[in-house]
Amino acid sequence: MREAYVPLRADRRSWARTLLVAHPCGRWQNDHQDYSLCGPGGHPGTDRRVQAIPSNRERTGGNQRTALRRAIGAGGGRLERGGKKRGFAEAFATEILSEIDALVGTPIDGWDFEAIEAAARREALRLAGMAVARRLNAEESDHCAISLPCPRCAGPARYAGRRDKAFTTVLGEMTLSRAYYHCEHCAAGFCPRDQKLGFRDGRLSPHVLRMVGIVGSRVSFQEGHQMLAELAGIEVATKHVEREAEHLGAEILQDEKLVLEADSNAQLPATLYLGLDGTGVPMRVSELVGRSGKQEDGSAKTREVKLVTVWSAQGRDEEGMPVRDEGSVTYSAAIESAASRDTDKELSEFAKRVDREAQRRRFQQAPRQAVIGDGAPWIWNIASELFPDALQIVDRYHANERVSTVAKAIYGPGTELAEHWTHQRCTELKAGNLDAVLTALSSHFSIKEARECKKYFQTNRNRMRYDKFHAAGLCTSSAVVESGCKRAVGLRLKQGGMFWTVAGANAILALRCCRLSGRFENFWERRALRPTG
Ligand SMILES: [Zn+2]
Repeated sequence: MREAYVPLRADRRSWARTLLVAHPCGRWQNDHQDYSLCGPGGHPGTDRRVQAIPSNRERTGGNQRTALRRAIGAGGGRLERGGKKRGFAEAFATEILSEIDALVGTPIDGWDFEAIEAAARREALRLAGMAVARRLNAEESDHCAISLPCPRCAGPARYAGRRDKAFTTVLGEMTLSRAYYHCEHCAAGFCPRDQKLGFRDGRLSPHVLRMVGIVGSRVSFQEGHQMLAELAGIEVATKHVEREAEHLGAEILQDEKLVLEADSNAQLPATLYLGLDGTGVPMRVSELVGRSGKQEDGSAKTREVKLVTVWSAQGRDEEGMPVRDEGSVTYSAAIESAASRDTDKELSEFAKRVDREAQRRRFQQAPRQAVIGDGAPWIWNIASELFPDALQIVDRYHANERVSTVAKAIYGPGTELAEHWTHQRCTELKAGNLDAVLTALSSHFSIKEARECKKYFQTNRNRMRYDKFHAAGLCTSSAVVESGCKRAVGLRLKQGGMFWTVAGANAILALRCCRLSGRFENFWERRALRPTG
């Protein structure tokens, strides 16, 4: 047995972890005894539970490939016959070698290497899956007491025999037999082994669930389903990708609220930036009942996702302007309220999120702190309340956009005059000559956009001293916040045909931000150690 386990333990941390969890009976689940000798379980007949992993031989095409598929088809099942007599490890090695021989029996000139590698991987996984299932099913030490405390009510849950369940693993479909404990009070039961191995409630193995989390954070659930099949040979229906990714995201959503330790203890950069922004995400009709919005009839189609992002900008571009440091960016985003009244004792939900993110980044310990935003009042309310010492900067990208909107209103979109006027005002803004910009706006006071823009610039005057900010080496417009919104929110949640629930959007946002911020591995470790039930 030992030899069969070594590569698994060396290769995959998650396997190593789950196999090394102490058993409720005080034994270790990876004790290397011969399964034929173990406990109440190692008796003849356990083989019936070992289900051969169905291979996906239909996937590769071509005549030679078809022949190759037939050649390896005879392999399944030999392991079981040879296993008992010769020792499992020997049988396993022999089986793999004979499968490989069958696969590559043709002269090298005739090799279709893609077909061979695909088939070899499939067969190796199938055999490994059988080995793992055998080992688990032969070991019945999870039946270790007449009753165990029910994880729901803590009352007695009585042993009620063994139950088989099919799981989707990276080694293929695997039917596992587990001790089942039933609580009469809750009219429900549980299998201690599922919890120990990290199988939780679903039928996906921990490693498959991790893969679902990865694809679900990046692409649509449909594309995720396709990627899992094409890259890993794992079949997870689209609706299961959706459900499991959202479950995982919901776990991260809760986990994020509890984890406030600093991401790292490394020396902080001279300046840390914290950006705040909002962006609309299309929602299902049922999620918008009674909400007013920007549609002509006053209804809403979207809800606003609010984003906080933290980064450093120690590097400089050719012009000497600060640029965002690669790998320094973290994100946290959700559909949450940022509204709070002066009489409110508690921070708004989103302000709490900003506070947590700032704690993880040690934002307030940085020698210099700057909050960058688009000028919406909720942004400065949060900045002033949470970070009174931080500089407040209106993102120059947004200021330029406002100027451009006014120019279009005065001269018409796409006209040379509009472009020229925009360029002049943006140059003045960059030079810190706000008075010149305000004068130019005043001369078009009959135009609503010009009036609104003037008011906005006057209100935010102190936050637009771009000449001073630049002289102090501060970043004012890297469009980091804007691109952060696109990266963390838009690319995943604003694709055509996507309509979200608040819960679904927040779960996927949590999952995506966790991964983009480089926090997924730590989450996964915490999750594996967390008691379930
Ligand atoms: Zn109970």
